[in-house]
Amino acid sequence: MTVMTDDGSSIDSTKPSIARVYDYLLGGRDNYAVDREIGDVFKRDLPGSVAIAFANRAALTRAVREITRTTGVRQFIDLGSGLPTADNVHQVAQRHAPESRVVYVDTDPQVLVHGRALLEENDRTRVIMADVRNPAAVRAHPDTVELIDFDRPVGVIFSAILHHVNDDEDPARIVRYWRDQVPAGSYFFISHFRSGNNPETTQAEQILQQTFGRGRWRTDEEIAALLDGLDILEPGVVPTPLWRPDPVDNRWNNGEKELTVWEHLIASVLARKPE
Ligand code: SAM
Repeated sequence: MTVMTDDGSSIDSTKPSIARVYDYLLGGRDNYAVDREIGDVFKRDLPGSVAIAFANRAALTRAVREITRTTGVRQFIDLGSGLPTADNVHQVAQRHAPESRVVYVDTDPQVLVHGRALLEENDRTRVIMADVRNPAAVRAHPDTVELIDFDRPVGVIFSAILHHVNDDEDPARIVRYWRDQVPAGSYFFISHFRSGNNPETTQAEQILQQTFGRGRWRTDEEIAALLDGLDILEPGVVPTPLWRPDPVDNRWNNGEKELTVWEHLIASVLARKPE
């Protein structure tokens, strides 16, 4: 079945979508049978996929909280934002700094429909349908122009999106574009499938490539290289559960709990544009 959205794009419920499969893994309800089928393949063949999805959301929350609490950044662009879930970027940011503004960007028409209903809660949040591979179009979108002041520092969020950009589409170019648009003192958060050079990585990459034609696991060095010209902040590129864990999650650091092989397969990193 194809459902038309108000802007003329269509939601195809016969083909799986990255946003909806991810929503299913997170326990959401904005998905169709075809997404659940693929999600169940992930759960069966990649048993860590649910843990990866939750670890990723938790790190995103920590990063936005940290940026809002410890810096003057009060505006965010969330690229490849996904379907609304618990603790979306604007909720985290506005909890700590109510004046924070957020532009959500995604290509999935369902994100536009549900996002407009659930994310545009106030005049400081917008959802736009645009392709992160065309950053100039995101920058020029009237909602971006209205909400984001590019003379002030911006938090640029690439959470679980750049691994959906293949090498020939040059993900570093996308980060570079935003680096050059924002002033010094801006922050860049990336979470990204992390290559373990192990069978789990190979298998996961194969399943994603077969399903969506994209899904690239990159090494820590390759992920760091995406942040060229930016200062990578402590603790660097690390498995996501180890990225500035909350004290309650500190069990990974004090040796009580070893990371599973799956928890190594997603990395997070925060960087700052220097003066
Ligand atoms: N950022 C959210 C998070 O970390 O929880 C969602 C991540 S989800 C795995 C990836 C999202 O990126 C999906 O919603 C998908 O529709 C979106 N996406 C994939 N390719 C995209 C592109 N070229 N432009 C914009 N969004 C894209």
